[in-house]
Amino acid sequence: MKSHLGLLHQPVRYLFAIALLLLITTAAGANGKAYDLRATPVADGVWAVVGSTANFSKTNGGNIVNTGFIETGEGIVVIDTGPSKRYGEALRALIDRHTSEPIVKVLITHHHPDHAFGSQAFDPETLHMLDESARLLERDGEAFSDNMYRMIGDWMRGTEVIVPKHRVQPGTFQLGGRTLRFIAMQGHTGADLVVLDETSGVLFASDMVFFNRALTTPQTPGLMAWRSEIQQLAELPFSIVVPGHGPVVKDNRAFLQMTDYLTWLDGVMTLSAARGLSAAEVILTAIPDRFADIEGASYELVRSVTHLYSDYENRELTGN
Ligand SMILES: [Zn+2]
Repeated sequence: MKSHLGLLHQPVRYLFAIALLLLITTAAGANGKAYDLRATPVADGVWAVVGSTANFSKTNGGNIVNTGFIETGEGIVVIDTGPSKRYGEALRALIDRHTSEPIVKVLITHHHPDHAFGSQAFDPETLHMLDESARLLERDGEAFSDNMYRMIGDWMRGTEVIVPKHRVQPGTFQLGGRTLRFIAMQGHTGADLVVLDETSGVLFASDMVFFNRALTTPQTPGLMAWRSEIQQLAELPFSIVVPGHGPVVKDNRAFLQMTDYLTWLDGVMTLSAARGLSAAEVILTAIPDRFADIEGASYELVRSVTHLYSDYENRELTGN
């Protein structure tokens, strides 16, 4: 028996070594894909976590979004959980490094994956969403998830769609030393939560506002409806705007750019439909020089025309 084991000894050692090697490589692979999140202080007790303005890719892991967190004195309010479970975990660790307060409320501003897919990392009892956003996440979550696995691959490992069971109601919310205002809008997806911290003046505008990054339109109820809500946002008593995508701004530049861009995009499609142009022709429209700072404008023009142009053509035909 002993000699039999002795014979096995060598191969077993090899197998063990190979298994160990595999384990190490896998761990290194996972570690190689760590999100490098940084918290930018934007006001006293308020941080933004600013992502890149690129598209989803296997390089950036979908860290293309802005999230944030607010200290209230009686707990932390988090705004959005990011594109994956791994991002959510990194965000939690980041929050723990900046504050000792517990996370008491996590607000998911809308149902898009880059904002809603990190929720597994947080206590389910803290997760909140607008009622209509939860319905949309229920409807679209799995399809979004399939798409995310295709676009960012391994970064998504273990990510599951979590629909928050708690709802956020529009209105004023008081916690500790903070007064937050929750505003329900529709321009980007049909259900978009905007959070104004009245105490500091920081406006977490969610994807109602893109700055220096072309806005995305797959689920907008209409570009002009979106534009009129931008006017409402511009009238709020804000001092700093954290857009859903793009850099933080301390004035109304993001609103001006959004208004200009939405007006232009609507105009391009209205005029093109009136002239009887095909979608293939409309996507070739030149991006005006004044939008040179807006990343992804040509790419998003193609997507917007794909999603929206038939509505403009129909309107042209029916005269509505
Ligand atoms: Zn987004």
